[in-house]
Amino acid sequence: MNSYDVAVIGSGPGGYVAAIRCAQLGMKTAIIEKYSTLGGTCLNVGCIPSKALLDSSHHYEDAVKHFEEHGIEIPGDVKVNLEKMIARKQAVVDQTTGGIDFLMKKNNIDVYQGLGSFKDATHIIISGEETTEIEAKNTIIATGSKPSNLPFINIDKERVITSTEALKLKEIPKHLIVIGGGVIGLELGQVYKRLGADVSVVEFMDRIIPTMDAGLSKELNKVLKKQKFKINASHKVKSVERVGDEVIVKADNKKGEEVEFKGDYCLVSVGRRPYTDGLNAEAAGIKLNDRGQVEVNDHLQTSASNIYAIGDVVKGAMLAHKAEEEGVFVAETIAGQKPHIDYNLIPGVVYTWPEVAAVGKTEEQLKEAGVAYKSGQFPMRALGRSRASMDLDGFVKILADKTTDEILGVHMVGARAADMIAEAVVAMEYRASAEDVSRMSHAHPTFTEAIKEAALAATDDRALHI
Ligand code: FAD
Repeated sequence: MNSYDVAVIGSGPGGYVAAIRCAQLGMKTAIIEKYSTLGGTCLNVGCIPSKALLDSSHHYEDAVKHFEEHGIEIPGDVKVNLEKMIARKQAVVDQTTGGIDFLMKKNNIDVYQGLGSFKDATHIIISGEETTEIEAKNTIIATGSKPSNLPFINIDKERVITSTEALKLKEIPKHLIVIGGGVIGLELGQVYKRLGADVSVVEFMDRIIPTMDAGLSKELNKVLKKQKFKINASHKVKSVERVGDEVIVKADNKKGEEVEFKGDYCLVSVGRRPYTDGLNAEAAGIKLNDRGQVEVNDHLQTSASNIYAIGDVVKGAMLAHKAEEEGVFVAETIAGQKPHIDYNLIPGVVYTWPEVAAVGKTEEQLKEAGVAYKSGQFPMRALGRSRASMDLDGFVKILADKTTDEILGVHMVGARAADMIAEAVVAMEYRASAEDVSRMSHAHPTFTEAIKEAALAATDDRALHI
């Protein structure tokens, strides 16, 4: 039987990063993955394929709607070849997951394909083409998550679909009903909107992206409405019925009246659930909480002291970069180091266009905590860079402590916000004040000038270009 210092179960961004860091620290490491490709949700059916389709659909929309105003004329009609678009996405996925195979080899990590189940706290049975058993002094559970559902919805994976099927549709929906106005629903909704579908979003809460700062929800809502999204907040879905090629969704609106949506596809994007099926966690003495997450302490250690858990299967934001940070954290903890993660500084991003990005506290959180804060906001449309590219929507908002001027939260909607948020993370990691950022030179013309201007606005209401 092969014996390891560490076995990692699951090869998503949490698991494969944990395995690499363990190997770097000199530990004999194995990784177990039940699917034939490494990379987990993120690389196979999450972050990477969704961004590939967002990029392709963005090019198409530009060609149809914006090339002309840039003085670019295309003789004849611009057409979508969906099959080719999906094939390009798959090529990007294959190349990326192949990159993980390379990284495993480079770091001498043994890869086992099959479902990993605990026999006890130090032995794992792997059921793949053959059944193998390995011994591990330490184990890291990184089994991720799966799309969740509402109890009354039958996801048939043809017309009533999850994000996984939405990444490989064979036709462009005529009318896509998206249940859930969170990140995944809006990103995939925008892909098909750009390709020509009507998109209706049905959201239970009173606003889309409800966990983000309310100012971001409001701005994104405004922009998506301009893009002809139909957004229905405060609607409680009560049934989803498939009749032939039609899907009928019934919901109660704020007044309690029944509203009916008829479409040809319905994307159910109501969140994700932690995934521990087949893991046989009890055999190792591991406790799950009432939400199905693996229960961990502040060191991400489970109720079995040699077993840790990271990523989507534990509490916290379901994000690839959060899972990666936790992977490194646990590897270093097992090696006897004292690592640290500041969960307040894990940024959140929505890759619609304009993008939405945020880090730190929202205004709602600061109000609830009774923190005295000041706010500086700067609109993207006032930037020369925005006018040059015609990306005029959005703003940057900086929230800073009223007394010390320390930055407490940065929230933005705008072109390239996903990349720009890194500046805010660095500033907050080093506990910068709004004035610190306002006095740093930002290249002109760039979208990042909105961060400097918002910092100026937060410091003493002294933005220069508005
Ligand atoms: P996962 O990536 O889910 O990987 C878990 C792996 O474990 C899977 O491969 C699974 O097969 C395997 N596994 C499970 N049980 C076993 C077992 N018993 N034995 C062997 N293997 C097992 N996050 C972002 O940060 N940015 C984004 O842009 C983004 N976009 C997304 C878009 C979509 C459409 C979706 C669905 C998600 C997106 N996410 C995004 C979320 C991101 O994918 C997850 O947060 C991330 O993948 C979590 O990583 P993980 O390592 O915890 O688990």
